[in-house]
Amino acid sequence: MTERSCTHAVQNHEMEQKQFQAESKRLLDMMIHSIYTHKEIFLRELISNASDAIDKLYFRSLTDDSVGMNKSDFGIQIAIDKEARTLTITDNGVGMTKEQLEEHLGTIANSGSLQFKKENHLSEDNQIIGQFGVGFYSAFMVAKRVSVKSKAFGETQAYIWQSEGVEGYTIDACDKDTVGTEITLELLEDVEGDADGNGAENYSEFLDQYRIQRLVKRYSDYIRFPITMDMTKSRKKEDSDEYEDYIEKTTLNSMIPLWRKNKNEITEEEYNDFYRDKCGDYSEPLCHMHVRNEGTITYDALLYIPSHTPFNYYSKDYEKGLQLYANGVLIMDRCEDLLPDYFSFVKGLVDSEDLSLNISREMLQHDSQLRMIGRSIERTIKNELKRLMKNDREKYEKFYQSFGLQLKYGIYQDYGMHKDLLQDLLLFPSSHENGKLTSLQEYIDRMPEGQDAIYYAAGESIARIELLPQTEQVRDKGYEILYFTENVDEFAIRMMQNYQEKSFKSVLDSSLDLESDAEKKELEEKQNTSKDMLEAVQKVLAGKVGSVKLSGRLKSHPVCLSSEGELSMEMAKTLNAMPGTEGEKLKANTVLEINPNHAIYQTLMDMQQSGSEKLDDYAKLLYDQALLIAGMPVEDPVAFSNRICALM
Ligand code: ADP
Repeated sequence: MTERSCTHAVQNHEMEQKQFQAESKRLLDMMIHSIYTHKEIFLRELISNASDAIDKLYFRSLTDDSVGMNKSDFGIQIAIDKEARTLTITDNGVGMTKEQLEEHLGTIANSGSLQFKKENHLSEDNQIIGQFGVGFYSAFMVAKRVSVKSKAFGETQAYIWQSEGVEGYTIDACDKDTVGTEITLELLEDVEGDADGNGAENYSEFLDQYRIQRLVKRYSDYIRFPITMDMTKSRKKEDSDEYEDYIEKTTLNSMIPLWRKNKNEITEEEYNDFYRDKCGDYSEPLCHMHVRNEGTITYDALLYIPSHTPFNYYSKDYEKGLQLYANGVLIMDRCEDLLPDYFSFVKGLVDSEDLSLNISREMLQHDSQLRMIGRSIERTIKNELKRLMKNDREKYEKFYQSFGLQLKYGIYQDYGMHKDLLQDLLLFPSSHENGKLTSLQEYIDRMPEGQDAIYYAAGESIARIELLPQTEQVRDKGYEILYFTENVDEFAIRMMQNYQEKSFKSVLDSSLDLESDAEKKELEEKQNTSKDMLEAVQKVLAGKVGSVKLSGRLKSHPVCLSSEGELSMEMAKTLNAMPGTEGEKLKANTVLEINPNHAIYQTLMDMQQSGSEKLDDYAKLLYDQALLIAGMPVEDPVAFSNRICALM
């Protein structure tokens, strides 16, 4: 022991029990009182951590001779001590320094757990645990006391972290010869339960070597380092009928990575278990893609689409990426370059024999092999999504509810560069079947003869859009309308401009042009005779609307608002709601359309002709009404209300 570590040891002895950080304490408490039925998963978690730690040291050993180990030296051992009721898991990975023990085991510091802390999403709901991965703390589902002895690579002093649960933990210096970590669980006492066996808990099962063997096989078979255990076996004595016990060091796992196995040898359950272990999501994935690519570049990939949106998915905290292996060695935990943003929801890994091992991270970023793999993976994902859409629509729609928004952002991004790749994956609610989702292709296939555009209407909700007066005329013509209820919809579609040579048209656009020639002629004549009235109204509404005209499309409604030009009202609303736009507000070029067949038209004409002062109030009221119908706020609600009262 060096002088420095001696003083450390003395200090540590005087050290009091430390408190867990509040959120860790709550998670721990949940673990201890967990009604989680699969308590056995603690073993998978601890083995997975051990394997990660070995991965780190093994990777280092490839470029750093001071590690002094070969691949075959690495491994995980499990030991059972029935008398002491302990289970010990030992690895010779990188180990943890005192600070790391404190940071990693005293606080929830890592991966999903960090956001967990930020969002404070704790609840009784077990699903929540699922979203973050239970990790190390799961040991407390089966143990009353957990000790972690660890010596970090490059350090001379080892430390022991000990805890009996929520009360806190201690860290002391200790003796440990080799680098790595040794975790000992002192198992809880069995619980008998009531007469019917309710509430019974059997923890002793984890002291049964065969049970442990089965658990390793089931959950950790693919771990690429040997997991060994001294198993007591029985054999017949030579020249005798008697049996004797002997101990045999047994390797419990096959060590073949799941992605290197043949697809037909892997069960759905194995795929799902692997996902839960590797991707930190405890619910089942929606689907998986297992591909082996042989060509200019050879790689295996195992990719998953989650069955729900990660809680931080649409925030800047979300980090995309796939694990990257070079010939079975993990070289990067999250390689962002392998996934385009619009497919950032995909999780999984890529393993390629063609990648060099000592490739540095910076080099990776520019590696052309990597880019090739990325492009090929992009195609795989797209094809899988197309296949789902075609063969399992229900599943696809489930996917789309979670991640459809991301695809639309993808279309909008980079000036529409990816539209060809993504447009066939889009779905929108439509008027065809009460808001049921439809693809653009399906829309086109249903188009009646004579329809030459794809019609859409943007608004807050389907119900709101269906009430818009402008949709009436389009529906009467027998044309289907796509409902755009998400802010990004209209922006994405403008970026696409058209689909299969059909342009997109907003039914809220003033130049929809659906009237017959005769209708147009009649309207034009009426427009001329109403010129003075329209001008008078326009004057009252100067600065609010760009123009006032008679409408050829309104049936029962007196007025409506439409827009002219590139910027629609919904788009302006979205843009103005964005942060940093508090100054000058964008304004769509709006048109107030008046229904010439409505009684109000004649009233306005009469007022204008008799020079009535009321025309002023009427014009303003009609404008406010049009705003309300369009789902926009009236500019001055008090004035609006006063005007109505005055009329009443
Ligand atoms: P996660 O594995 O999701 O990060 P855990 O709670 O399981 O969360 O573990 C927290 C951290 O503790 C790990 O990220 C790792 O840094 C460290 N750790 C746990 N077990 C070991 C181990 N056997 N060897 C080295 N470090 C470990």
